[in-house]
Amino acid sequence: MILPRGSTRVAAVIGDPIRHSLSPVLHNAAFDALGIDWVYVAFRVRRGQAGSAVEAMRTLDLGGLSVTMPHKAEAARAVDRLGPVAARLGVANTVSWSGHAGDTALVGESTDPGGLIDALADDGVDPAGRSCVVLGAGGAARAATLALADAGARSVTVVGRRAEAARDCAFLAGRAGRPVEGADMEGLRDSITDADVVVNATPAGMEGQPPLPFGLDPRWFGPHHFVADLVYAPAVTDLMVAARDRGATAVNGLGMLIHQAGRQLELWTGRPAPLEAMTAAAGEALGPHRQ
Ligand code: NAP
Repeated sequence: MILPRGSTRVAAVIGDPIRHSLSPVLHNAAFDALGIDWVYVAFRVRRGQAGSAVEAMRTLDLGGLSVTMPHKAEAARAVDRLGPVAARLGVANTVSWSGHAGDTALVGESTDPGGLIDALADDGVDPAGRSCVVLGAGGAARAATLALADAGARSVTVVGRRAEAARDCAFLAGRAGRPVEGADMEGLRDSITDADVVVNATPAGMEGQPPLPFGLDPRWFGPHHFVADLVYAPAVTDLMVAARDRGATAVNGLGMLIHQAGRQLELWTGRPAPLEAMTAAAGEALGPHRQ
């Protein structure tokens, strides 16, 4: 890595907690691979301070900002304008300058939906015409729902613990969207057994969380399923094991994380993201991601 100099452009992530973020690893590896004079750091920014952090991007002339929990909605309100995806989701995970040099407008965008579609494509999965289930109705679920619907999914069933959240999320999929309450075990079973693609957008499977979302029954999975768990630590979740045991293909969320970061880097620098270098760096930090 080139040591920062007077000419170095600084990009950063804001969030809380932030210590365990993989974003600095991904972006610094990318800057290194591209041989560009950029560095990426993590800032712990307390809830309610995202607006000031976006203003600081102006003051400090940062090259780009990644935004993570709990700031995505506040960041979307703090920028000068929103890109097309962020405008529909109402949240931004990326702030960039509208032009790459000398422009004073800050644009908020969300690279999560595109990141999911890129990751699915890596695995040869095209959601067009497919029946999809999204487990969860929070931020990642909203990104996944929009992504799958925009990619032409035949149906996007959103399973939420709270009926209202499931409805709001399913609404993003337009006519393809259908909400199901997590407590409706029959609805959940039918949705999963009929699905081609199942996306876990809940934290279930992470350390300290329940192993499977909604207490779903692993016997509902079969060889026709493609299961994308958006959790990436651990690299192999209980949901992935359960799905694979029934013959399904299952992957973790690292591919999406890398692709959404790659899209951020492209917005900031205008350069194509060096995805191989980013994947290698993530693998070193986390251990191999396909296990
Ligand atoms: P979030 O906004 O807090 O949403 C979490 C959702 O999961 C909510 O709908 C929540 O329901 C539901 N939920 C929580 N625990 C559950 C359980 N045990 N069973 C069923 N539903 C449960 O969080 P998020 O930002 O969407 O993140 C969700 C997961 O996706 C996290 O693990 C995160 O690390 C991962 N993620 C991965 C990527 C990636 O690039 N791979 C990107 C974004 C997020 P309530 O609202 O009722 O609590």
